[in-house]
Amino acid sequence: MSRPRIVVVGAGFAGHQAARTLSQRLRGRAEIVLLNPTDYFLYLPLLPQVATGILEPRRITVSLTGTLPRVRLVLGEAESVDLAARKVRYTDPEGGGGELTYDRLVLAVGSVNKLLPVPGVSQHAHGFRGIPEALYLRDHITRQIELADTTDDRVEAEARRTFVVVGAGYTGVEVAALGAMFTDALAKEHHRRHDTSGLPSRRPRWLLLDLADRVLPELDQRLSGTADRVLRERGVDVRPETSVKEATDQGVQLDDGEFVDTRTLVWCVGVRPDPLVSDLGLDVEGGRLVVDPQLNVPGHPEVFACGDAAAVPDLTRPGKFTPMTAQHAHRQGKVVGHNVAASLGIGGERRPYRHNDLGFVVDLGGLKAAANPLGIHLSGVAAGAVTRGYHLAAMPGNRIRVAADWLLDAILPRQAVQLGLVRSGAVPLDSSAPELARSPGSSTSPRPSKEE
Ligand SMILES: Cc1cc2nc3c(=O)[nH]c(=O)nc-3n(C[C@H](O)[C@H](O)[C@H](O)COP(=O)(O)OP(=O)(O)OC[C@H]3O[C@@H](n4cnc5c(N)ncnc54)[C@H](O)[C@@H]3O)c2cc1C
Repeated sequence: MSRPRIVVVGAGFAGHQAARTLSQRLRGRAEIVLLNPTDYFLYLPLLPQVATGILEPRRITVSLTGTLPRVRLVLGEAESVDLAARKVRYTDPEGGGGELTYDRLVLAVGSVNKLLPVPGVSQHAHGFRGIPEALYLRDHITRQIELADTTDDRVEAEARRTFVVVGAGYTGVEVAALGAMFTDALAKEHHRRHDTSGLPSRRPRWLLLDLADRVLPELDQRLSGTADRVLRERGVDVRPETSVKEATDQGVQLDDGEFVDTRTLVWCVGVRPDPLVSDLGLDVEGGRLVVDPQLNVPGHPEVFACGDAAAVPDLTRPGKFTPMTAQHAHRQGKVVGHNVAASLGIGGERRPYRHNDLGFVVDLGGLKAAANPLGIHLSGVAAGAVTRGYHLAAMPGNRIRVAADWLLDAILPRQAVQLGLVRSGAVPLDSSAPELARSPGSSTSPRPSKEE
């Protein structure tokens, strides 16, 4: 008799952990296929450190084949799912297509950049969801500082030295805090080597905007207070209750009437579930696929979903869904692995997903962070140590490489070079596949996502 086939779509926090749990439990009794556009798991929480030159990009990528024994990796992006025929159709990285039949399906496709209907934003802003975007941003920031120093046009120089981040959630806060440190160091170094005027170097300007009345609006008030203080100490212009009305190639029009000359608009307003799930014809909540507490799709006992793409009932907060965080996605992946095995008669009964938040860590660069592990509020160096320790413990690989980069960053200046490998057009904000750079005119270009 042939072995049942389990197809896991997506190898992020949820899918990677689901495949790992299945491999450990089933030990060859079922075929496990993992469909993902890249051959790596991406440790997203450290992406801001890649964009600001602290970590090299490969440090936060963990090989799927190297960490998942007995799992067959298929490189590709799922395009559609035929629930009746139990088939997933996908496009491979070279534009070819394929089909995978399944006996059990786990959907763990995560999320993509959230768009808002603001004129000019999809043309002039860049998101923050994958390695190509982080590489683009690192080069772009470096280039702005270099070009600002070579132009004789003062208005242009000021615009190039101005960086606007929209969205003061944990991603926007980290990008602004680490970005301000990065550009200060770049500007000083550039000035020291090239200035002949004798005038002091002009400090780059960072603005952090959010419609909410405080930074980190979704987190504890004390974390917010710590982050706000550190950002302001770094010179970041924190603007609560402010947003962008229009973006142009010369700058951004704010909703309070001010026009900010800038060449950089970083869009961190959050994420929305991958559009694949809303195309299935199944029940969704806020774009997330509805599942029961066992992470099973109602009416389809062979289909499971977890992570950002799934609306998972939060049993610790009745009536709510679990937030889109790595902590939940990772643990849901484990429960899905157990429940899929149980549905094949291996390893006991299905169990519901229940998890109390263990707190949050927000890296603010240098030795600073805001953290509340197990509800204990920390700031300063203690929070910095906890934050870095947490990331090392949570990564499924590459820990020594990451720690080595942190050590090098503590003792050496950042490398101020741009490689120019990812250009602006390769990382559009509106993409269903931010993990892949778009190549113009190529049939392998990620399809733009559907507008909400
Ligand atoms: C910059 C940034 C920083 C963050 N920092 C934190 C943090 O500090 N703490 C925290 O708790 N959370 C953080 N998050 C949120 C956290 O990363 C997500 O909640 C988590 O990644 C969700 O896990 P997931 O498995 O659902 O999705 P992901 O980890 O995004 O994985 C989804 C996977 O599915 C693949 N995929 C997508 N579409 C398809 C398709 N059609 N076919 C096949 N594969 C597909 C993707 O390539 C990816 O590998 C951060 C997010 C970002 C963007």
